[in-house]
Amino acid sequence: MARISLGNVCKSFKGLKVIKSVSLTVEDGEFCVFVGPSGCGKSTLLRMIAGLEDVTSGQILIDDQDVTKLEPFDRQLSMVFQSYALYPHLTVRQNIAFALETAKQPKEVIECKVAEAARTLKLEDYLDRRPSALSGGQRQRVAIGRAIVREPRAFLFDEPLSNLDAALRGETRVEIASLHKSLAATMIYVTHDQVEAMTLADRIVVLNKGEIMQVGSPRELYEHPGNVFVAQFLGSPR
Ligand code: ADP
Ligand code: MG
Repeated sequence: MARISLGNVCKSFKGLKVIKSVSLTVEDGEFCVFVGPSGCGKSTLLRMIAGLEDVTSGQILIDDQDVTKLEPFDRQLSMVFQSYALYPHLTVRQNIAFALETAKQPKEVIECKVAEAARTLKLEDYLDRRPSALSGGQRQRVAIGRAIVREPRAFLFDEPLSNLDAALRGETRVEIASLHKSLAATMIYVTHDQVEAMTLADRIVVLNKGEIMQVGSPRELYEHPGNVFVAQFLGSPR
């Protein structure tokens, strides 16, 4: 079943086309990775799905509902950014609970969801700290915790590992993969890193200059790159 569908989505900034008619369906429970060089339009595409950026033309459906004109909050998606975007003045517990409190959920429900997210992400010992007293990896886990408790229809990640050092990057990548399994969640994950794409994805969408070059499983793309760009970008043998 389709969770998110893009129909001929285009985006121009001041007359300059940065996304050129992208059509794509992300299935329920799928881990879909958008990969491509810096500046190819990955973030712009993700931000349009999130509702943080208007589409210039085209349509976005979530669970067959047309959300093209909906505000970000009403799309029921959770986005995790490279920069974590935590509230510095709030504790870990308050950061994770923030969206639930805004939505006026009952206190007991909030406590229960925060505790469960903290357990999943091994943050139980850090709940009363502020973000400044956490490592980069822990901060990113708080950002993921904040995404989880909202029980979104899909998770959107924009280069979530790029501020972490190599060791933490590997560790956090494994955590995101295991989260995908345990939540059976739909995830769209943006990266410029081929290794991240190949190891995480059920399906990879290769973008270049605002266009889809090819869509397929890591193996399909590696073994049967559709063009020279894909072959070179993924390092396929030729
Ligand atoms: P990526 O995430 O793949 O690195 P982006 O989606 O950030 O690429 O950017 C795609 C293109 O759109 C780039 O050429 C970038 O300069 C341009 N762009 C992105 N956001 C804006 C904006 N708010 N105003 C003008 N140009 C933008
Ligand atoms: Mg980007």
